Amino acid sequence: MPKKIENVGCPYCGVCCDDLVVTVSDDGKKILEVENACAIGNQIFHHATGGERVKLPRLRQPDGTYKDISYDEAVDYAAKVLYNAKKPLIYGFGSTNCEGMAAAAKVAERAGAVLDNCASICHGSSFLAIFDNGYPSCTLGETKNRADVIVYWGANPAHAHPRHMSRYSIFPRGFFTGKGHKSRKIIVIDPRHTDTAQVADIYLQVKQGHDYDLFNAFRTAIRGHEIPAEVAGIKREQILEVANIMKKARFGTIFYGMGLCHSDGRNHNVDIAISLTRDLNDHTKWTIMAMRGHYNITGPGAVWSWQYGYPYCLDLTKKDIAHMNPGETSSVDLAMRDEVDAFINIGTDAGAHFPIEAVKHLRKHPWITIDPNICMASEISDLHIPVGIVGVEVPGIVYRMDNVPIQYRKVIDPPEGVISDEELFERIHKRLSELDAEEAAKGPAKAAPAGVRAEE
Ligand code: SF4
Repeated sequence: MPKKIENVGCPYCGVCCDDLVVTVSDDGKKILEVENACAIGNQIFHHATGGERVKLPRLRQPDGTYKDISYDEAVDYAAKVLYNAKKPLIYGFGSTNCEGMAAAAKVAERAGAVLDNCASICHGSSFLAIFDNGYPSCTLGETKNRADVIVYWGANPAHAHPRHMSRYSIFPRGFFTGKGHKSRKIIVIDPRHTDTAQVADIYLQVKQGHDYDLFNAFRTAIRGHEIPAEVAGIKREQILEVANIMKKARFGTIFYGMGLCHSDGRNHNVDIAISLTRDLNDHTKWTIMAMRGHYNITGPGAVWSWQYGYPYCLDLTKKDIAHMNPGETSSVDLAMRDEVDAFINIGTDAGAHFPIEAVKHLRKHPWITIDPNICMASEISDLHIPVGIVGVEVPGIVYRMDNVPIQYRKVIDPPEGVISDEELFERIHKRLSELDAEEAAKGPAKAAPAGVRAEE
């Protein structure tokens, strides 16, 4: 008899939908149906049992091919790579659980590594603004229940977070928003007329790279001062109309995406967005929230801030002292300066996301990818270690984009023998401790890791 599992969390985007219903086969090995998920979330679950999975670690051979090795051999290889490196980098963590992140931090601390997550190349600039200017935010539940004005700025949830609008912002009926969409005003501000803009009541086509100017105009107008006839491609009348709607809102939320933090101005755009939110709170209640991408990319910020005081770009090369300095300790900058001599890519695809020059530098040194799937990073690695898929095969804590922790469950077992990120890092940590103990007992000689890469 197939079994229905309810309240399952989706391990894809930062909306972290936790209302999925997954039907598994009576032997508990196959996912038959996924209800309530969007097309992307649906695919994540079916991929687990529908296609080919890598079930053993694969080590690059001299002829360029991969050879299957055991998890013990992979753990030994990874530990020796970290042990022999002067400045290893462990990067990624968008797609794993908080338990895996904490275990990886233990490894980074013991190995004296730099520990970084995908915020380094996405919402890192948001962190810089938040450090400077605070974060007047809320939960997605508060937005659903209270917000009568929603602003999407530089974000396109129709594509990137498909159920965001139906679960939390535009369409749902909340406690004080019983008429759903009819009780809300939707404003979209974006240089592109996106699919999200199609459902907006007001769409402002801000001139590319001029978001800061438009924020300034809103702040000026809300304070009752004169503004020019046109700012950032938007007419004065439209700016005054939107400023008035914002001031008169009962509760508003600005959701912003990488259109703000990855265009000209970067952290300064987010900084002034926060200032606008604060200004609006002189009149009514306004909140702001970053549209975090991966389902648990908020997690490393929470876990590592608790452990070390910093959310990303953590330099642990001094082992017992952490410091953070984006530009100096950020992954891409380190790679571009060729300062890193070993790289672990975990739960992301640096091969696809980093600039090619950074990838070329990282490829000069041992590169290990930890990921359930085959991706660009796994295919250029010296070692690819498959792990269970969090939220499908591995349970754990994830942080939604509004910093709310959610306990994810597993619905099926991972392929036989495949372990979790957490167990893998725990085993690497244990092996590193053994290597340290061996060195303490025998002197400074260090073992070279087995496995070599073909000439390129
Ligand atoms: S909106 Fe995001 S979290 Fe929700 S089902 Fe789709 S991909 Fe999964």
